Amino acid sequence: MTAQHAQEAGEGAGSPGASGWFCDLHVHSTASDGTTLPQDLPKLARAAGLAAMALTDHDTTDGLPACAAAAARIGLTFVPGIEISADPGPPPGRPATSPMRLGTLHILGLFVAAGDAKLRQIRQRMRAARNSRNPAIVEKLNALGVGIDYAEVLDLARAEGTQIIGRPHIAEVLMRRGYADSVTDAFARYLRQGAPAYVRRDRLAANDAIDAIHHAGGLAVMAHPVQLVAGDRDQLEQHVRRLKDSGLDGIETRHSDHTPQEVDFFEDLAKRYGLGTSGGSDFHGSRKSVALGSQRVPFTVFEGLVERRA
Ligand code: AMP
Ligand code: ZN
Ligand code: FE
Ligand code: FE
Repeated sequence: MTAQHAQEAGEGAGSPGASGWFCDLHVHSTASDGTTLPQDLPKLARAAGLAAMALTDHDTTDGLPACAAAAARIGLTFVPGIEISADPGPPPGRPATSPMRLGTLHILGLFVAAGDAKLRQIRQRMRAARNSRNPAIVEKLNALGVGIDYAEVLDLARAEGTQIIGRPHIAEVLMRRGYADSVTDAFARYLRQGAPAYVRRDRLAANDAIDAIHHAGGLAVMAHPVQLVAGDRDQLEQHVRRLKDSGLDGIETRHSDHTPQEVDFFEDLAKRYGLGTSGGSDFHGSRKSVALGSQRVPFTVFEGLVERRA
């Protein structure tokens, strides 16, 4: 479904835009590592008081047709999206060959064509990258004395109907088996970058992720910038400038990980660099504690992105 169709589908919702209308432009489904089926999201969005939602699964557009159709049935405005994991590169001052890495760099593609060939290539490459990395994580865990089996991870993913198997599933198994108190705790103890069972996987270069999103007709938006560099605003600004030079269209200013002060800072940063703004909850169903629509992103944010795209 094209964005134009998506907008047409949304016309049944009346004419949102007045205050009191909200959107959520960062949502996951079982097509990646969320726990809600893509076709079940639109009615949850409507119940949460939203006029528009984007589906932005990790490295895949597989959930878009089902979600778009369900949104059209109830007259909810739908934005087809994706969230691509990119290589954050080494910290400033380090050579390009340095193995050191900053935090997480995720690039949202909003208004993308679901069937785009480049996005499908990315899906294949990232699936292979996770599938070869996951067993390596379990091997490291085993070496640390954590007695889980990769088959348990596969069983859990199968039971949930998840299409992309990644660290959240390993975290869930660790929690269920009593090796961690929660998914977050499992990441902190074992799985996050720098933790003892972390294994780096293949990632796209940021400019390739941005180019693929543009190829698919979408806007490239830097997701949750706070996850790239926490606490160092100069470094973050340097990265935003670099991404802007690679064609970045916007910044996700409102996100569940951002404090109100950070939202203000990112809004100001976007303005200074002529970038658009987006926002969303990063809903993952029952996997994370954030609720769909919880960022109360004004509908005008969606409208601003539509305008920028035009
Ligand atoms: P993967 O792509 O398999 O490496 O896993 C990345 C996923 O793990 C993303 O969906 C994140 O939402 C989730 N994730 C990353 N870091 C954390 C963390 N510290 N706590 C909970 N979930 C996390
Ligand atoms: Zn996720
Ligand atoms: Fe993300
Ligand atoms: Fe996300």
